[in-house]
Amino acid sequence: MKYSAFERLLSILDLEEKTGWRNRAVIGGAEGLRKRWVPDALEEGNDPATVDAIDNLLQKYSQANPKTRPEIAAQMRQIVEHGPSEPAKGKPEPTSDAALDVIDQIGPVQEPRTARAAAASEPQATVAEPAIAPAGPTPRPGILRESVTTISGIGAKKAERLARLGIETISDLLWHIPHRYDDFSRLRTIAELEPGEQATVVANLWQVKERKLGLKRHMVQGILNDGTGTLRATWWSKYVAPKIQAQIGKTLCLRGKVGLYMGYKTLDSPEYEEIEDLQAAEGRIEPVYRLTEGISNRELQRWVSSALKLGLPQVKDPVPRAVRDQFGLVDLRTALEQIHAPASHEDLAAARRRLAFDELFYIQLGVQRRRHLYRQATAPTLASDETMVNRFWSALSFAPTGAQRRVLKEIAQDIGRSVPMSRLVQGDVGSGKTAVAAGAMYIAAENHGQSALLAPTQILAEQHHRGLSSLLEGMRKSDGSPMTVALLTGRVTGSERERVLAGLADGSIDIVVGTTALIQEHVSFNNLCLAVVDEQHRFGVEQRSILRDKGMQGPAGTPEASGKVPHMLVMSATPIPRSLALTIYGDLDVSIIDEMPPGRQPIKTKWFKPSERERLYAFLRRRVQEGRQGYIIYPLVEESEKLSAGAAVDEHERLSREIFPDLRLALLHGRMSGSEKDEVMQAFASGEYDILVSTTVVEVGIDVPNATTMIIEDAERFGLAQLHQLRGRVGRGEHQSYCALISRGDSPHAQERLEALVETTDGFALAEKDLQLRGPGDFLGSRQSGLPDLRVAALGDTATLALAQQAARQIFAEDPELQNYPALLAQVEEFWHGQGDLS
Ligand code: ADP
Ligand code: MG
Repeated sequence: MKYSAFERLLSILDLEEKTGWRNRAVIGGAEGLRKRWVPDALEEGNDPATVDAIDNLLQKYSQANPKTRPEIAAQMRQIVEHGPSEPAKGKPEPTSDAALDVIDQIGPVQEPRTARAAAASEPQATVAEPAIAPAGPTPRPGILRESVTTISGIGAKKAERLARLGIETISDLLWHIPHRYDDFSRLRTIAELEPGEQATVVANLWQVKERKLGLKRHMVQGILNDGTGTLRATWWSKYVAPKIQAQIGKTLCLRGKVGLYMGYKTLDSPEYEEIEDLQAAEGRIEPVYRLTEGISNRELQRWVSSALKLGLPQVKDPVPRAVRDQFGLVDLRTALEQIHAPASHEDLAAARRRLAFDELFYIQLGVQRRRHLYRQATAPTLASDETMVNRFWSALSFAPTGAQRRVLKEIAQDIGRSVPMSRLVQGDVGSGKTAVAAGAMYIAAENHGQSALLAPTQILAEQHHRGLSSLLEGMRKSDGSPMTVALLTGRVTGSERERVLAGLADGSIDIVVGTTALIQEHVSFNNLCLAVVDEQHRFGVEQRSILRDKGMQGPAGTPEASGKVPHMLVMSATPIPRSLALTIYGDLDVSIIDEMPPGRQPIKTKWFKPSERERLYAFLRRRVQEGRQGYIIYPLVEESEKLSAGAAVDEHERLSREIFPDLRLALLHGRMSGSEKDEVMQAFASGEYDILVSTTVVEVGIDVPNATTMIIEDAERFGLAQLHQLRGRVGRGEHQSYCALISRGDSPHAQERLEALVETTDGFALAEKDLQLRGPGDFLGSRQSGLPDLRVAALGDTATLALAQQAARQIFAEDPELQNYPALLAQVEEFWHGQGDLS
């Protein structure tokens, strides 16, 4: 369903109200909205006087301040409901500060959106292409936004199930991209299967066996044969048993990872489907979709094909033809058609390439545009000289590394200018990023400016607070006053909270460390000059913008008095390969700390077979007897952290009972609440436990120098970057540290990964290797990058990434505001809508 212009206006006003009247509910603010909204509203046949009145109010709104905006909004709502009372010919009030509007435009937008919603963007925003003769009988302009129930065969019940997959409209169906394909043109026989590979096999189900394993576990095993060999497929739930039993004697298509057990080829929990007509399927490349209970792949195939017939003629291509031609991209309609029903491997490859290109291209354009916009704003100049910087370094208890000195120098140069800094400092865990940030904060304080450090979790905020306090302890500013450091998280409450809020507002606090509590509405700063974001991949681009906005508030009570944005420093311990850094951090300048403080002993890393586990337990026990601590890490058994808790919980119980009954074992997993997790980590850090049994939730930068051994189970299941992150939890103190990777390592890929990890502790080298092995998609996944939710970029490869970068640079150089590319602009804006999630 398409919303009318008035409905959209009302929902934008609602959002403005919710977000504090900051004129940021839409990109470009009310001013930007006018350009698009007015023609829209007129086209819908609304009374021109009414539209004109609202146009005037929108103009007024963008120039007003947050205090007077509610009144203007009320007038707009009034007009929408009752029409204009008198011709409101408001003369624009003089704007208080031009910088303000620029910043408003950087802003984020309304409801969460993803690329697929974007591609079905409002027709008015799209440049009409010379219409390719519509395939359907009658063109139906609004069809893409119509409900899936338009398709015959989808009733209320099926629609409800589809909604669980995020599919509500015809457009959603078009953008439900297959997550893989059954390639009947290249079917494998059982005899050909290799352990470790992902495979699709067609075979007859001969027999089903069931076995109870302990209280909870239940094993269902199917014996299959295709004439070339026998295959055992295993499922682990008693609920699937009757379903599998019912398939005996039938021909099944199974997909899963091939294993080897006691000489038999196996598939562990494969997806399966009955094949009714192998003849018809043979030679075809069939899409396999993400499914939900009560919806079959066959149904989805049918519905998507109807959606293609109905919707494809209405899909407009926002990527200009010149760009498509230059980079050899197929048009969007062809891409969508071929991604769902590929005629050949070549067509499928072309479709993937085009769809992946789109997302990467929009990311690039959005990032470039942000950079362009914020660089037009003004930041406070924070002056420093060599004496000041040296005073800082010499106040520390250690001598800085060359890399730390160099990076602080780069930062000092940046913040000495009025162009807002946006700099990323990358450095491996333990490379001393915090000290560099502290140096920048010290310079800010010497300039009577405040700094804020944003950390992803309470425990990290507290750790930083302790770290910074001890670094800066006793350090005085040149005027003799001490540096004051405060903490603000959800746990800081009552009078302490009041005290911190007051200190931030009156400027008596120089540095505040906190969680997202810092970017809440009611926190205001006297003079925020520098914002530091730690472990940046945990935050979205959006959160950076909010923090940046905090600097706009000026002295408490006089909103936006300063009209300046703070300098922004972002720190990350996740090394990103250069080519990707440009994509993800294209709006940032990058500094790299590529040197470790002296005296660190490299972590000894070794790869072990599962049969050597007992030896490792004995090793860990000896370290504990020497007074050290250790980690045992279990991978995600299922895709989600929720389900994976199982392995850690079970193992914690087993280890406590059978292996280490005399030691103190703690347990950490994703099903625990944030404060439960914090509590366990805190207790482990303070030495109350010897061994922490955990899933990957321990990954974030917790610092326990006494923990020196890490055992990682099923190491082949982790990505290289993640293994490196995990390993960084040890080796943080003076003691020799160890990382034991347990893996059968039975696929060549796994071996390569593990060997890379054994060979080097250089995070950047590992990141490059990881990129080679996995392709860019995984890196760009939202968790790592803080980018909008990506659907199809994962289909791309490094070459596509390079193309998208080149295309974006070209367009941007010629037309940074994208004035000549309205369709593209609309697309980029819609794409970046999804940045609003503050959870
Ligand atoms: P990162 O945030 O990069 O992982 P930190 O800033 O937390 O690293 O530093 C890790 C530890 O090393 C801290 O205890 C810090 O005080 C110490 N440290 C930092 N720089 C140096 C240095 N140049 N020499 C010795 N120790 C250092
Ligand atoms: Mg750190």
